[in-house]
Amino acid sequence: MRVRILGSAAGGGFPQWNCACPNCRALRAGTFHGKSRTQAQVAVSGDGRSWFLLGASPDLRAQIEATPELHPCPSSENDAVRQSPIAGVVLLNAELDHTLGLLLLRELQPLRVYATASVHRILAEDNAMFAMLQRVPGQLTWSDFTPGSAFPLLTPAGKDSGLRCLPVSLGTHFPAYVSPSRQDQCSQQEASLGLFVESPSGKRLAYMPAVPQIDDFLLKELDASDVVFFDGTFWSDDELIRTQGSGQTAGQMGHVPVSSARGSLAQLAQLRQPRKIYVHINNTNPMLNEAGPEYREMRAAGWEIAEDGWQFEI
Ligand SMILES: [Zn+2]
Repeated sequence: MRVRILGSAAGGGFPQWNCACPNCRALRAGTFHGKSRTQAQVAVSGDGRSWFLLGASPDLRAQIEATPELHPCPSSENDAVRQSPIAGVVLLNAELDHTLGLLLLRELQPLRVYATASVHRILAEDNAMFAMLQRVPGQLTWSDFTPGSAFPLLTPAGKDSGLRCLPVSLGTHFPAYVSPSRQDQCSQQEASLGLFVESPSGKRLAYMPAVPQIDDFLLKELDASDVVFFDGTFWSDDELIRTQGSGQTAGQMGHVPVSSARGSLAQLAQLRQPRKIYVHINNTNPMLNEAGPEYREMRAAGWEIAEDGWQFEI
């Protein structure tokens, strides 16, 4: 399985357009010891030809252009000019940071989109703009999945990519834009998921960009993975409140922090098998600063912090 990290930041990216936190200011000033990042986006492929996007980032257009594997590549003069190696998208929630990119893929390109029935209905029935993705037959094919049930990734033509996905329910909160009446119709178990992607040879990638709590089931599944992409949104629970003077805690926003006794550094220390990589890093997170103590602590614990453009095979 080939894996590419197209974007590694949380919503807003790094720097964030309306943020003057110490990280964003230093990055703009050119004095920051670390890299800018676009909003979280991962792509996987079983054969190196058909690619599947995990989420659909608002930065997707630029991310595709920065990734040669995702460029249209007619193999002969008879091939269509309009085409794409991108075969499908797996959506893990209905948040804007995770779904807006779908609207950027609207140029009548056939795509298969995997989502829970709740996320599918929220996007397709409550947001009129998504009709642009279904203007002609065969443009966008929705495939609903159920948390806990594995499913194969198929191309728009129905060809099996060889990749298998196992979605697991992690969070129960729908985005703030979802009306109370719609939320009543939805299953909370379908609100926010993590994903395990398995290759034909049995290699396993875990993609967990938003994890509200870590339990024994998740620990066991993560330890059975070869690579873990894990929620690195916030270093500390009160990070946003301390940075901007108000707001919500990491826990209230559905993210376990990296540090503290209940944080992911401590709770995932027992994982022995997988390569551990933080993704979905918020611009306020001090571990973005590679000259800082938080970065050193994270690296000393055996973790890496994802950067845009990283690629590897598992
Ligand atoms: Zn900032």
